Amino acid sequence: MGKPTGFFEFQRKNKEELDCLKRIENFNDFHIPFDLKTQQEQASRCMNCGVPFCQSAMKVNNKNVGCPLSNLIPEWNHLIYLGLFEEAYKRLEKTAPFPEFTGNVCPALCEACCSCSINTESVSVRANELFLIEKAYENSWIKPKLDIKRNGKKVCVIGSGPSGLAAAKRLNDYGFKVTVYEKSDRFGGLLMYGIPNMKIEKRIVDRRINLLKEEGITFIPNTKVGYDIAVDDLYEEYDDIIFACGTSLARPLALKNNDVEGILYAVDFLSSTTKCLLDGVDFKYNLKDKNVIIVGGGDTANDCCATAARFKAKSITELEITKEPPLENTLPWPNYPNKKKTDYGVLEANTLMGHDIRKYQTTIDEIVVENGKIVGVYIKKVEFVFENGKTKIQNIENTREYLPCDCLIIAMGFIGTKS
Ligand code: SF4
Ligand code: SF4
Repeated sequence: MGKPTGFFEFQRKNKEELDCLKRIENFNDFHIPFDLKTQQEQASRCMNCGVPFCQSAMKVNNKNVGCPLSNLIPEWNHLIYLGLFEEAYKRLEKTAPFPEFTGNVCPALCEACCSCSINTESVSVRANELFLIEKAYENSWIKPKLDIKRNGKKVCVIGSGPSGLAAAKRLNDYGFKVTVYEKSDRFGGLLMYGIPNMKIEKRIVDRRINLLKEEGITFIPNTKVGYDIAVDDLYEEYDDIIFACGTSLARPLALKNNDVEGILYAVDFLSSTTKCLLDGVDFKYNLKDKNVIIVGGGDTANDCCATAARFKAKSITELEITKEPPLENTLPWPNYPNKKKTDYGVLEANTLMGHDIRKYQTTIDEIVVENGKIVGVYIKKVEFVFENGKTKIQNIENTREYLPCDCLIIAMGFIGTKS
C-alpha cells in the first residue's frame, strides 16, 4: 500500500498561504490548494502503518490521540496516491459525516500522532481529507439521498452546530423524520458564527445545510427552545429529542468592572463580526485604531487576534496564563506535542504589530475605567505552584504593569451551555 518510498522521497508540504499583510485585507480563506501532482505525492508519504495511530481514537496520558472519527486514513491516502479519488472519497464518507468541516477546522489529532512525525514530519492528512470532499462536490459524487425508507418516527434536534447536524444526518439516514431547531437566524452553530469566515467560509456550511434539507431534514431558525417553544410541546410532537446545544457559555473574568463598555466575550465578538459580514452591514465592534487585549491563548483567542488584525487595531496583545512552551517538543510520540506553536491569527497580528504579541504567565490584575468605559488594565505575572497536592496560581511580586486598552476580549474557554 502507498508508494513504498514515498515517505523518504517527498518532504511534507503545507498548503501555501497568502502573505499575512495581504490576507488581512479581507475575511476570505487564504490557503492555496495543492496542485494534483503535489497532492498525490503528499498522500504517497503515508506508510500504511501496521498499527495506524492516526486513525486509532484513544487516550495516551489522559489526552486524546488519533482521529476521533476513526477515519480510514491509510486507505484513502493510498487511493489518492493511485489517483482513485472517487474510491478514496467512498472510504472517507464511511466514517466522516462532514469532511468539509473537519478538513477546514479540525485540530488534526491524526497528524499529531502520525508515525512519520517520529523522525520527520507527519503526513498532511487534513489537507488530503479536504481535497477529497471538495473533489466529491466538484464531481457530484456527493448527492442527496432521496430514497430513504421512513420508519414512522419523528425526532427533533435542538441546535444546528456540528454535533446537532451529525445527529440529524445519522437519524435521517436511519429513516427518522428529523426537525432541527436553531436559535440563530442561520444554521451551523459555531461553524457559522463562532469560527471566522477565513477559517471556514460560510458558503461551505450553507452548501451542506442545503444538502441536508434536500435529504428531508426540516430546519427551523430563530427559535429558542424553552423560550419560543416549550420543551413539553416538543415531547408532545416528537418521539424523542436530542439536545445538541453546545458549550458557548464563556468562563468569566472574575474582576471588578468586568462588565463595562469595551469588554467583550470572544464568541459574541466573533459571532457579531461574521453576522455583520454576511448581512453586509457596518461592523458592530469595529476595532480599527483601538488598543486591543485578548485574554486567553487557545483557538478562540487566536481567531480574535486574526479578526483584530483585519480591523487594523492600533495594538494587539494576547495574555496567556501558562508558561511559554518550549520551541522543541518535549513529549515522546505519540503524545500530543508540547511545543510553542504560532497559529494563523497570532502570526498575522505579530506581522502587523512587528513583534510577538504574546505575554506568557500573565493575567489581568485590575480593569481601569473612565466614564463607564475601559481605558486600560493593570497586568501581572503569575506562576503555577504545586502545594499540598494541589496546583495553585501565585502572583510574582513587582510585575504589575499598566497597558492602555479600549477593548478587552475574554477568550478563557467555556464552562457550559448558554441558556
Ligand atoms: S483532520 Fe480529519 S482525519 Fe484528522 S483527526 Fe480531524 S477528522 Fe480525523
Ligand atoms: S500514522 Fe501516518 S504514516 Fe501511518 S498510516 Fe497513519 S497517516 Fe499513514
